[in-house]
Amino acid sequence: MSQRTLVLLKPDAVRRGLIGEIIGRIERKAGWTIGALELRTLDRATLEQHYAEHEGRDFYEPLMGFMSSGPVVAMVVEGERVIEGVRALAGPTDPIAAAPGSIRGDFGTITRENLIHASDSEESAEREIKIFFPGLV
Ligand code: ADP
Ligand code: MG
Repeated sequence: MSQRTLVLLKPDAVRRGLIGEIIGRIERKAGWTIGALELRTLDRATLEQHYAEHEGRDFYEPLMGFMSSGPVVAMVVEGERVIEGVRALAGPTDPIAAAPGSIRGDFGTITRENLIHASDSEESAEREIKIFFPGLV
Protein backbone atom coordinates (compact mmCIF):
# COMPACT_ATOMS: atom_id res chain seq x y z
CA MET A 1 0.00 0.00 0.00
CA SER A 2 1.67 3.21 -1.16
CA GLN A 3 1.42 6.06 1.32
CA ARG A 4 3.02 9.39 2.08
CA THR A 5 4.29 10.76 5.36
CA LEU A 6 5.58 14.05 6.75
CA VAL A 7 9.11 13.84 8.14
CA LEU A 8 10.96 16.57 10.02
CA LEU A 9 14.67 16.40 10.73
CA LYS A 10 14.65 18.40 13.96
CA PRO A 11 17.05 21.27 14.77
CA ASP A 12 19.42 18.95 16.69
CA ALA A 13 19.83 16.73 13.63
CA VAL A 14 20.56 19.73 11.39
CA ARG A 15 23.00 21.31 13.92
CA ARG A 16 24.87 18.04 14.34
CA GLY A 17 25.34 17.47 10.62
CA LEU A 18 23.11 14.39 10.48
CA ILE A 19 20.90 15.42 7.53
CA GLY A 20 22.73 13.20 5.07
CA GLU A 21 22.96 10.25 7.46
CA ILE A 22 19.23 10.28 8.20
CA ILE A 23 18.02 11.01 4.68
CA GLY A 24 20.39 8.27 3.48
CA ARG A 25 18.67 5.68 5.66
CA ILE A 26 15.26 6.72 4.35
CA GLU A 27 16.40 6.97 0.75
CA ARG A 28 17.96 3.49 0.74
CA LYS A 29 14.66 1.78 1.56
CA ALA A 30 13.49 0.09 -1.63
CA GLY A 31 11.00 2.10 -3.59
CA TRP A 32 10.69 5.03 -1.20
CA THR A 33 11.04 8.46 -2.78
CA ILE A 34 11.24 12.03 -1.57
CA GLY A 35 8.26 14.00 -2.86
CA ALA A 36 9.09 17.38 -1.32
CA LEU A 37 11.97 18.76 0.73
CA GLU A 38 12.76 22.11 2.30
CA LEU A 39 15.15 23.58 4.90
CA ARG A 40 13.26 26.11 7.01
CA THR A 41 13.00 27.68 10.45
CA LEU A 42 9.57 27.08 11.93
CA ASP A 43 7.49 29.86 13.43
CA ARG A 44 5.20 29.56 16.43
CA ALA A 45 1.99 29.40 14.37
CA THR A 46 3.24 26.47 12.30
CA LEU A 47 4.41 24.60 15.41
CA GLU A 48 1.11 25.21 17.22
CA GLN A 49 -0.73 23.56 14.35
CA HIS A 50 1.74 20.73 14.07
CA TYR A 51 1.81 19.89 17.79
CA ALA A 52 -1.82 20.81 18.60
CA GLU A 53 -2.42 17.39 20.20
CA HIS A 54 0.26 18.13 22.84
CA GLU A 55 -0.91 21.59 23.92
CA GLY A 56 -0.97 21.82 27.73
CA ARG A 57 1.47 18.95 28.32
CA ASP A 58 4.46 19.76 30.54
CA PHE A 59 6.88 19.24 27.66
CA TYR A 60 4.93 21.47 25.24
CA GLU A 61 6.63 24.87 25.78
CA PRO A 62 10.19 23.46 25.88
CA LEU A 63 9.33 21.49 22.75
CA MET A 64 8.15 24.64 20.97
CA GLY A 65 11.37 26.43 21.98
CA PHE A 66 13.54 23.58 20.80
CA MET A 67 11.68 23.14 17.51
CA SER A 68 12.15 26.82 16.65
CA SER A 69 15.81 26.96 17.79
CA GLY A 70 17.18 26.46 14.29
CA PRO A 71 16.24 25.20 10.86
CA VAL A 72 14.59 21.85 10.27
CA VAL A 73 14.44 19.78 7.13
CA ALA A 74 10.79 19.20 6.25
CA MET A 75 10.08 16.47 3.74
CA VAL A 76 7.35 14.31 2.30
CA VAL A 77 8.38 10.70 1.78
CA GLU A 78 6.31 8.41 -0.40
CA GLY A 79 6.21 4.63 -0.79
CA GLU A 80 5.12 1.26 0.46
CA ARG A 81 3.96 1.39 4.12
CA VAL A 82 6.10 4.47 4.61
CA ILE A 83 4.14 5.77 7.64
CA GLU A 84 4.87 2.71 9.76
CA GLY A 85 8.25 2.35 8.07
CA VAL A 86 9.75 5.73 8.94
CA ARG A 87 8.47 5.40 12.52
CA ALA A 88 10.29 2.06 12.68
CA LEU A 89 13.51 3.60 11.32
CA ALA A 90 13.17 6.41 13.91
CA GLY A 91 12.56 4.20 16.95
CA PRO A 92 10.52 5.10 20.04
CA THR A 93 10.22 8.67 21.36
CA ASP A 94 12.75 8.17 24.21
CA PRO A 95 16.15 7.69 22.54
CA ILE A 96 17.53 5.71 25.48
CA ALA A 97 14.73 3.16 25.01
CA ALA A 98 15.31 3.10 21.25
CA ALA A 99 17.28 0.14 19.90
CA PRO A 100 20.73 0.61 18.37
CA GLY A 101 20.23 0.63 14.62
CA SER A 102 17.34 3.05 14.84
CA ILE A 103 17.92 6.76 14.22
CA ARG A 104 16.99 7.79 17.76
CA GLY A 105 18.80 4.78 19.22
CA ASP A 106 22.00 5.51 17.35
CA PHE A 107 22.19 9.28 17.80
CA GLY A 108 19.93 10.46 20.65
CA THR A 109 19.96 10.65 24.44
CA ILE A 110 17.37 13.32 25.32
CA THR A 111 13.65 12.70 24.77
CA ARG A 112 12.98 16.22 23.51
CA GLU A 113 15.98 16.26 21.18
CA ASN A 114 15.18 13.04 19.40
CA LEU A 115 16.25 14.04 15.90
CA ILE A 116 13.21 13.20 13.81
CA HIS A 117 9.45 13.56 13.56
CA ALA A 118 7.38 11.19 11.43
CA SER A 119 3.58 11.13 11.04
CA ASP A 120 1.89 8.40 13.07
CA SER A 121 -1.17 7.61 10.91
CA GLU A 122 -2.68 8.32 7.49
CA GLU A 123 -4.87 11.03 9.04
CA SER A 124 -1.89 12.70 10.73
CA ALA A 125 0.15 12.46 7.55
CA GLU A 126 -2.44 14.25 5.42
CA ARG A 127 -3.02 16.89 8.12
CA GLU A 128 0.73 17.51 8.60
CA ILE A 129 1.56 17.55 4.89
CA LYS A 130 -1.03 20.32 4.44
CA ILE A 131 0.67 22.37 7.18
CA PHE A 132 4.15 22.13 5.69
CA PHE A 133 3.46 21.79 1.96
CA PRO A 134 0.04 23.37 1.34
CA GLY A 135 0.66 23.50 -2.40
CA LEU A 136 1.37 19.78 -2.75
CA VAL A 137 -1.44 17.87 -4.45
P1 ADP B 1 6.77 11.08 18.66
O1 ADP B 1 7.60 12.20 18.07
O2 ADP B 1 7.59 9.84 18.88
O3 ADP B 1 5.49 10.83 17.90
P2 ADP B 1 5.13 12.39 20.69
O4 ADP B 1 4.15 12.70 19.60
O5 ADP B 1 4.61 11.71 21.91
O6 ADP B 1 6.36 11.53 20.14
O7 ADP B 1 5.80 13.73 21.19
C1 ADP B 1 6.20 14.72 20.26
C2 ADP B 1 7.59 15.19 20.62
O8 ADP B 1 7.56 15.84 21.88
C3 ADP B 1 8.63 14.07 20.80
O9 ADP B 1 9.19 13.62 19.58
C4 ADP B 1 9.65 14.75 21.68
O10 ADP B 1 10.47 15.64 20.93
C5 ADP B 1 8.76 15.58 22.58
N1 ADP B 1 8.40 14.86 23.81
C6 ADP B 1 7.45 13.89 23.95
N2 ADP B 1 7.40 13.44 25.21
C7 ADP B 1 8.31 14.14 25.91
C8 ADP B 1 8.77 14.15 27.26
N3 ADP B 1 8.23 13.33 28.16
N4 ADP B 1 9.75 14.99 27.60
C9 ADP B 1 10.30 15.83 26.71
N5 ADP B 1 9.93 15.88 25.41
C10 ADP B 1 8.95 15.05 25.00
MG1 MG C 1 3.81 12.10 17.68
